[in-house]
This record gives sequence, C-alpha cells and structure tokens, in this order.
Amino acid sequence: MRGLDKDVSVVAAARADRAEIERFHTHRYVDRVLHDEARGIDYLDNGDTPVFPGLYEAAASVVGAGLDGLSRVMSGECRRTFQPIGGLHHARRDGAAGFCVFNDLGVVIESLRTEHGVQRVAYVDIDVHHGDGVFYAYEDDPDLIFADIHEDGRFLYPGTGHANESGTGKATGTKLNIPLAPGAGDQTFTEAWTRVVAHLRAFQPQFFLFQCGADGLEGDPLAHLRYSPRVHAHAARSLCHLADEYAAGRLMAFGGGGYNRGNLARAWCSVLRELVNV
Ligand SMILES: [Zn+2]
Repeated sequence: MRGLDKDVSVVAAARADRAEIERFHTHRYVDRVLHDEARGIDYLDNGDTPVFPGLYEAAASVVGAGLDGLSRVMSGECRRTFQPIGGLHHARRDGAAGFCVFNDLGVVIESLRTEHGVQRVAYVDIDVHHGDGVFYAYEDDPDLIFADIHEDGRFLYPGTGHANESGTGKATGTKLNIPLAPGAGDQTFTEAWTRVVAHLRAFQPQFFLFQCGADGLEGDPLAHLRYSPRVHAHAARSLCHLADEYAAGRLMAFGGGGYNRGNLARAWCSVLRELVNV
C-alpha cells in the first residue's frame, strides 16, 4: 500500500453552491439544513444525523468535491477519482438520513445528465447498508443502472433493498439488489459479484459510480458481514475493466461508510491501488 499517495493527485474540496446542491435536493430541504444549523436543532432526522456548527459547509464541501472530480473526469484530466469522504447514499431529495446530509452521488448523477449530456449511468454500491437514498430517487428511472450488494435489510438499517426491488415502470429490471445474510464473507460476495457484472454488461453504462463503503469488513461495529479487503480490490478491478470497456474509463469511487478505522484504511487502500494500477 505504501507510496500510493505519490501515484495520485490530491485535490482539496471546493464547496458546492446552492444551485448545484439543488440539482438533486429540494429548495425547501436545503433551507431546512441552514435553518436547523442556525437554530442549533439537535438532529436533522429522528436521531441519526446530528446538527453541528459548520454542518452546511461540511456537507456542501462533500458535494463540491464530487463535482470537482466529475469536471476533471469529463474534461479528460483524469479517468478515475477516489473521494474518501463521500458516497452519502442515504440522504433523500427532501431529507437527511443515516448520517447523510446531502447526497453527493445524486448531485453527480443529476449533473452528468444536465451539465454533461451523459444519460446512462451505473451506480454500484458495496457498502454494507442498502443505498436507499439513491435507489428510491431513481427507482423509476430506466437510465440509472443500479447494483447494490448489502446485508439483508431484515437485520440491518435501513431495512430496504430486497431482491424483488428491481425498479418500477419503464425501469423494471434496471435495478439489482442482492441482500446477503449476516456472516457472509468473500466467497458469497464473489458469487454475487458475477451477477453485478452481468447486469452492468446488459446495459452498457456510459459512466460508472462506485460507492465502496468499508463497513462490510469483518469487525465493523455496526454490521455483521465478514468481508476481507480482497472484496474491495476485486470489485474495483472489475469496475475499472468495465469502465474501460464501455465508458472510456470514466469511474468515480466514493468512500461511503465504515466504523472501524483500520478497516477503512485497508478497504480504501485496496480500492485506490486498483484505480491506480489497472
Ligand atoms: Zn454503510
């Protein structure tokens, strides 16, 4: 792992402006974040997502970093980005959830469409929690190709992502949810991953987003899967190859969750090593 920082350009986060945040979020919700911070309200939701001084600026910087990465990829300055503080996949268009204030992924998806003319986007999520904020925002969108491997919602927050949730209306079949039983490890993941690859190949996306949460690793205090960092390397390598094949290499990776610091380092360095070397 050592020396990886010398193989990448490290860029400071820019802050997204309000109009950019509102490509995904409602005006009313952005107002609420500002007002709740000013008033010192305890939580944006029912007790998961705390308000603190500087909250808006921090959340807007997460979105800004994503948009900065997107513009660098679209300009051809680089093919791939990795944003460790990002991938806040639980936030909804009109509300916070699960530690997530603004959904940087949603803003990037909207920006791909409205600012860059890229319509068919793959969203792949291996965080241990279901990416409900992205899934339900695009459940009926046939051009958002969604694949999510997570711990079964019967045992873990947010309780969604069942195998029969495959998209609605014209989008039926564009979404793949694969819940795993508590205790599942690398072999189960690798078997599930072959289905993700087949799903992505069937739709040939023009751009790849990868939420690579580290909370599926064994020893995470919030969840119950038993991955090793090989899972993250395997998924990252595979997505690099698919992005090269279908999307001129364009791939943005986002750190997502993870509540054991050693696991964060191991999982994210595994991803970054593949992004640099493949
Ligand atoms: Zn998570």
